[in-house]
Amino acid sequence: MNFAADFAALRQIGADAAGGWSRPAFSEADNAAHDWLLEQGRAAGLDARYDAFGNAILRLEGDGRPALLIGSHLDTVRNGGAFDGAIGVLAGLEVLRRLRASGQPGAPVEAISFRDEEGRFGPFTGSRAMLGQHDAAALAKARAADGETLAEAMAGAGFTPANVPRDLSTIAGYLELHIEQGPVLEQAGCPIGIVTAIAGQERLSLRFTGQADHAGTAPMDLRRDAFAGAARFATAFRDLIRAAGDPALRGTIGVVKLSPNQGNVVPGEVTLGLEIRSTEAGTLPDLRGRIIALAEDIAEQEQLGLRSRGIYSESPVPMDAALQAALAASAAALGHSALRLPSGANHDAGIMGRLVPSAMIFVPSVGGRSHCPEEETEPAFIEAAIDVLHHAVMTLRRVRA
Ligand SMILES: [Zn+2]
Repeated sequence: MNFAADFAALRQIGADAAGGWSRPAFSEADNAAHDWLLEQGRAAGLDARYDAFGNAILRLEGDGRPALLIGSHLDTVRNGGAFDGAIGVLAGLEVLRRLRASGQPGAPVEAISFRDEEGRFGPFTGSRAMLGQHDAAALAKARAADGETLAEAMAGAGFTPANVPRDLSTIAGYLELHIEQGPVLEQAGCPIGIVTAIAGQERLSLRFTGQADHAGTAPMDLRRDAFAGAARFATAFRDLIRAAGDPALRGTIGVVKLSPNQGNVVPGEVTLGLEIRSTEAGTLPDLRGRIIALAEDIAEQEQLGLRSRGIYSESPVPMDAALQAALAASAAALGHSALRLPSGANHDAGIMGRLVPSAMIFVPSVGGRSHCPEEETEPAFIEAAIDVLHHAVMTLRRVRA
């Protein structure tokens, strides 16, 4: 077997009627994909097993030093693509095969498929379980949007929802190959991306409160129209993000809840859900304050009440400088151009990277598309990235103490 054959086989698992792939975490298709992965690992002469959370681990034994981990995920969003996560796991398998065939001694290396990266039961459930980061009570109650609990879903595969903390001294570093899910590499004509940092994010809820009145009788100059204020804020917010001078900064208002939400009533209340992301550590807390001040300002001018609430906050995760350098050196040694870029999306590397040295290789996404059946990456770029990963791991397991 090789990567192309693995990928062709994996594409058969969870292919859905709508032309995409549906392997939600701990579904029948997801379990089948993981069982298949372990079979491939055993066939390649690797130690292949599940941890107690159901994360799949293929291991090439080595000297007594801590292991280098190569990870990603096999689950997908519903009607997602074939590449997201899958190529990273298969790259790990392929690298282990090549290392085993070479017979060269070195540190142990593992290929891991983390469960539930797409967050059916919460963000990065599998990798966070491996790092022991879950609140046990919350995990026991975790439930998917479709109503199935994590406990029920895991029981189908013979696992139970609990932390499975791994001794961090057994891990030398973590590497992940993943599709970019954006347009930067394709536009730059570059096959290899080396991720500098994974963006942190802040999510806020802003509630503008005015007064619901009859749309026909309330005079224009006497209205306290919550939507008019929220709309003014929306464009001012976009301008603030654009003017902030941080090219990695993103700001999005993705949620608008209007009340009473009726054609003949002046909106009395509007709740906006917004998020900002950046890889710059100082940007987010500073910006958060400016966003709230901006909303307060506009609310006052529009005679509206304002309530702001923090929903979620996560700081950026810088990727390990030495591992980035190793990937860059390997790309150069193999004659592939590589571009350093931040990741606006979070990955298991963003979870692992808080506790162990971590780095990521990106490959270009055709049209920047992902989480859809059209998701695609040129096979030659995947091959190049696997070669770089293999070269880097070969080097790192030799020299890394
Ligand atoms: Zn992914």
